[in-house]
Amino acid sequence: MFKTIDWPDSCKVRAVIKFLNARNAQPCEIYRQMSETYGDNAMSEGNECADQLAKEAITKGDPFLLPKPPSYLKAEIKSAALSIWQDNWDNGETGRSTHDIVPRVSNKPVGWNREEIMFVTGHGSFPSYLLRFNLRTHDNCSCGEKGDPIHYATKCPFTLSWHFQTPTISLKLQWLKKILTNNFSRTRLRLLMRFICDESNLIVEDNN
Ligand SMILES: [Zn+2]
Repeated sequence: MFKTIDWPDSCKVRAVIKFLNARNAQPCEIYRQMSETYGDNAMSEGNECADQLAKEAITKGDPFLLPKPPSYLKAEIKSAALSIWQDNWDNGETGRSTHDIVPRVSNKPVGWNREEIMFVTGHGSFPSYLLRFNLRTHDNCSCGEKGDPIHYATKCPFTLSWHFQTPTISLKLQWLKKILTNNFSRTRLRLLMRFICDESNLIVEDNN
């Protein structure tokens, strides 16, 4: 514990509160810092003046301008941009399967390769994807079932060599995360996706 300053004059208290207010300190933080510096009396009934000043500074706001360094502004802009991006990502209508796995936006890459991105997003040589863009008239795999990524990874007889265990619906997310964090599984997934790309005519048939 460091020694507090007893009974500060009101001007000093006012200046410090203004300073903290200008730095957008929260009221509770102003209170904490004032009490820590000047002792509990500065912000208690024992010093009504200080208390009143604090309330005025917080409620009315009378900030004075402080020059802020470019690095501060840069950090503020980055924080605001990330916040907007996060909001859009949380409330968007597309990319929901990716949102389940990567809920937080970040400037850092997730570290997935092309094949893993194809699998997670479903954007690739899958009948389910081609149908979305009217490049096929149906989304059936040649085996007759719906040709989406999870079908090829777990059920399709054409891709038997690379199958993973079929997850239950409630554990699908954990299943996917486990694959993406295991090097052996990632290698298998990569080979599966490459096979689908190379053999797209074999897997995706359209009689029309
Ligand atoms: Zn199939």
